[in-house]
Amino acid sequence: MTESSAAASCLFCRIARGELRSTKVAESEHALAFRDVNPVAPSHVLLIPKEHVAESAAALGPAHGALLGELFALAARVAADEGLERGWRLVVNVGPDAGQTVPHLHMHMLGGRALDWPPG
Ligand code: AMP
Repeated sequence: MTESSAAASCLFCRIARGELRSTKVAESEHALAFRDVNPVAPSHVLLIPKEHVAESAAALGPAHGALLGELFALAARVAADEGLERGWRLVVNVGPDAGQTVPHLHMHMLGGRALDWPPG
């Protein structure tokens, strides 16, 4: 499958294009934050690049540095807006053992409760 045909049917690309409904929390030029439909914490926000730049973090390199900085900055802004002064966590699942279900690079931002360590 080519990158453009993957993007045509990709769930998170469709959310980014506004073809599927989501609860948008914030956005920046290249990144979008929206609520996870199946939250596992009081605050559970997904952060994605608007473009289908990679299926997972396994495909990232130095060329993605600016985009990753933008994603982290957006996460920090969302955490502040959500009032997560006590802390929050970013999770990036890669592959089946980590439970990745959507092959479009994304980070989970979790907060609003004490988060177990190590994670399950
Ligand atoms: P992962 O398991 O790391 O690939 O994360 C994918 C996440 O996307 C899961 O936590 C799902 O609950 C979430 N998800 C799936 N479909 C949607 C959707 N339409 N809107 C918001 N979140 C979704």
